[in-house]
Amino acid sequence: MKADEALNMLYEMLQIYSPSGKEDEIASYLEERLYDLDFVNVRRDKAGNVYGEVGSGEYTILLCGHMDTVPGYLPVKWEDDKIYGRGAVDAKSSLAAMISAAKQLKSKIHNKGKIIVAGVVDEEGRARGIRQLIREGLSVNCAIFGEPSGVGNITFAYKGRILLTVKCRTKSGHVGAQHIYNNAIEAAFNLWMYIRDLCDQHRSPNGIFYSLTSSIIGIKSWRSMGGLPDRCRINVDLRVPPKFTSKDVIMLVKGAVEKAADDLNAEVSLRVLDRVEPFVARRDTLLMKSLSKAILEVTGREARFIRKTGTGDMNIFGSKMNIPVATYGPGNGRLSHTEYEYIDVSEYLMSIQVYERAIEKILCLTSN
Ligand SMILES: [Zn+2]
Repeated sequence: MKADEALNMLYEMLQIYSPSGKEDEIASYLEERLYDLDFVNVRRDKAGNVYGEVGSGEYTILLCGHMDTVPGYLPVKWEDDKIYGRGAVDAKSSLAAMISAAKQLKSKIHNKGKIIVAGVVDEEGRARGIRQLIREGLSVNCAIFGEPSGVGNITFAYKGRILLTVKCRTKSGHVGAQHIYNNAIEAAFNLWMYIRDLCDQHRSPNGIFYSLTSSIIGIKSWRSMGGLPDRCRINVDLRVPPKFTSKDVIMLVKGAVEKAADDLNAEVSLRVLDRVEPFVARRDTLLMKSLSKAILEVTGREARFIRKTGTGDMNIFGSKMNIPVATYGPGNGRLSHTEYEYIDVSEYLMSIQVYERAIEKILCLTSN
């Protein structure tokens, strides 16, 4: 695939606005492109993920990128050597680069091995896509996830995430009698401070990646009798370092919330809405070594291994499947989810070469 074809595909992908839950149009586009590019077994699963394959043989490599973006349309522009648009960084350039690399390898790998490219849905939502991909039971030997690590870096570790909602209920009465009654918003706020304190106790001197951190991401209150607010719900997002499982943290938060409920004289209930385990990939695998070598060859610099404080589909896949995994892709991750998303043309093109060379190295060693 020529550079201008790879660039055009990325540009067209960016022109299709595809926030989580609205991936249909881009999925159809990708299906068509994969047919055009002579991928085989092109199909869509019931979650809306798109698959295509090249090559044949025993050893199979999964290249998995997400088709969805966070919401927030951005005008798509190509100026000088930068392409702007929602998903330019997170993570359409990774997915487009994976497709381009696989196409490029088609004529070289023959029966040395197989590459399955998957464009999945809902990575920015509740990860419906990757969960369905796991249920599909693909038989793969290793997997690369396409997320912005930067062309010279490999992401090997992500924190976990817990999304929970805490409901606070108090006895309410007339607003004029506020000295007597317990305001549910204030109780919820104080309860939030207990959660903050708990996180502070698990702050690591080694930095945020190793620390338990939290954000309050939503608050809603009710006045069921028109008096002081007597119900309040807060949504909390916790980021879990690898030393904990999500279950450990949920137990800790439950303990803190129960103590708060006693102290605050409020009825409290806690519900977990979503959880993703932290994940640290092994760095001594053939996959990691091949990626590092490819990075050195393409960029002239030693690859750096990086940890991320967010979460990715690699967390869910890597915790379920006991195979080598890595996350790699072009773009500056700091621009993810911002209105400044852009990708450097040269970085995008270099990442195609990195995927290509890394896969060639793996298949060269596994097919002998
Ligand atoms: Zn992403």
